[in-house]
Amino acid sequence: MKKQGGTMINKAKGTYDVLPNESFKWALLEEKARKLLTLFGYKEIRTPIFEYSEVFHRENEQSDMVTKETYDFFDKGDRQLTLRPEGTAGVIRSFVENKLYVQNHLSKLYYIGPNFRYERPQKGRFRQFMQFGVEAVGSNDPALDAEVIGLAYSFIKELGLKGVKVRINSLGDNDSRLAFKEALTNHFSPHSETLCSDCKHRLDKNPLRILDCKVDQKHEAVVNAPTPQDHLNAVSRAYFQSVLNYLDSADIVYEIAPKLVRGLDYYTHTVFEIEADIEGFGAQNVLGGGGRYQSLVKELGGPDLPGIGFAFGMERLLLAMEAEEIGFADESKPDVFMVAVGQQARIEAIKLLFEARRNQLVADMDFNGTNFKSQFKAALKSNAKYVFILGDDEINTKTVSIKNTETQEQEQVPSKIAIRTIRSRLGK
Ligand code: AMP
Repeated sequence: MKKQGGTMINKAKGTYDVLPNESFKWALLEEKARKLLTLFGYKEIRTPIFEYSEVFHRENEQSDMVTKETYDFFDKGDRQLTLRPEGTAGVIRSFVENKLYVQNHLSKLYYIGPNFRYERPQKGRFRQFMQFGVEAVGSNDPALDAEVIGLAYSFIKELGLKGVKVRINSLGDNDSRLAFKEALTNHFSPHSETLCSDCKHRLDKNPLRILDCKVDQKHEAVVNAPTPQDHLNAVSRAYFQSVLNYLDSADIVYEIAPKLVRGLDYYTHTVFEIEADIEGFGAQNVLGGGGRYQSLVKELGGPDLPGIGFAFGMERLLLAMEAEEIGFADESKPDVFMVAVGQQARIEAIKLLFEARRNQLVADMDFNGTNFKSQFKAALKSNAKYVFILGDDEINTKTVSIKNTETQEQEQVPSKIAIRTIRSRLGK
């Protein structure tokens, strides 16, 4: 065929399309998430995908994600905006702006939506990616930490993923964090010349960031760095122990990860990650993670309230499920497919098609097919459970021939009871 019109345009780097034969998996994953979140008492919050830049670019936030990877732009009114690179800051901005703390002592919120980071794309890492996550704002109870971690854990269990680990650590309260920071500065200062240029800068601003530097990962000083655990004060130690006790009581299996610090600067006390041991995943085996934050609500202009949350990357969840060959049932395959030859038969087929749908049956027909053969082929391709065949004979006798595509059995029933017959066969 001669090509007409313009040149084909590819998707932007680091993005992907969810095609029709895949989209049901996304819908099912979301549905599973929503169900479990509802069981745990979380309610959905939907915030914009772009915010004023200062929501993310805050004085205290020096993570790579925020300093290097955001999509920042000016709109036509010269407002400086940022596509959200993560869910928490926008949710807290909305929590503060809408004074959600007035209605409830504890707000249990969840979100599902796209985020944007200018990262180097690779397997399980995109520039637009989907996260679902929760934020529980308003309580300092260590039992809430266990509940949030337990929710993340239950979700992974529910999906059927194996080899899943909860890794947990504590950064302690502000004082402990400061003590740890000082210890890191002392530890890294003699090595500053051999650290990468970013880490040299981090040494001044936030030495915690050196611990998760991708370049210096194997640097001896990084490998031998002090851990947050060594610098927890008594209060923080007791808090952490209490979280662990609650996790034990809820039968949540975890592993203490002394070096875990997580990528964002707002965390205090509990931090955690959910990891799956999946072949070929390499460094992308972290399915999700989160932690407790003490000052973010205040930093964004709200009252002095603590929060705790986590986020899962949905692409990675789906990749992990694929790798472990966990199938999703495709509910979209038709219960019944109409094959109708001749004008009168097609009129009758349309009638039955709509009747089927009114009766909660997934129903379809071939809108291109002309002859019987091509329509029947389309019916089989759709994986329909039953095919309705309507030809001259059926029209004259006001009947429908129903073929069971699995058993190949065929029967002829009055068209009046055709839909009812299918419903009872399917136990609907
Ligand atoms: P973070 O917000 O960085 O703590 O990430 C939480 C989870 O989101 C990660 O464990 C990943 O599953 C997912 N994630 C983060 N960045 C990306 C990305 N660029 N592409 C795909 N998934 C991502």
